[in-house]
Amino acid sequence: MTTESENVTGFKCPHLDKCPFFHKHQDTMSVLAQKLKDAHCLHDNTHCARLWIRQQLGKDAVPLQMMPHQQDWAEQILRDAGKTETIYHRTTAAQLR
Ligand code: SF4
Repeated sequence: MTTESENVTGFKCPHLDKCPFFHKHQDTMSVLAQKLKDAHCLHDNTHCARLWIRQQLGKDAVPLQMMPHQQDWAEQILRDAGKTETIYHRTTAAQLR
């Protein structure tokens, strides 16, 4: 596990300190929450499902229980909201990595 002080990438999502997902689940799912934090919040937030929703629909539209790796769910929400162009760009960016 990585603590924020051990974060060698130097990256930190600007929403981490107030991210509702981690505030809710930090104690109950500490191991999983830490792994997700290492992979997304302290490494690369461009694939974070929560961030996709937040950026396109606003923070109030992000389901509290949505985890950062639930991109399929995020894509469905964006599709339902008519944001299909966003999904295309996200998918293309991911494929080019
Ligand atoms: S879950 Fe997503 S939005 Fe929340 S802090 Fe992590 S990368 Fe940022």
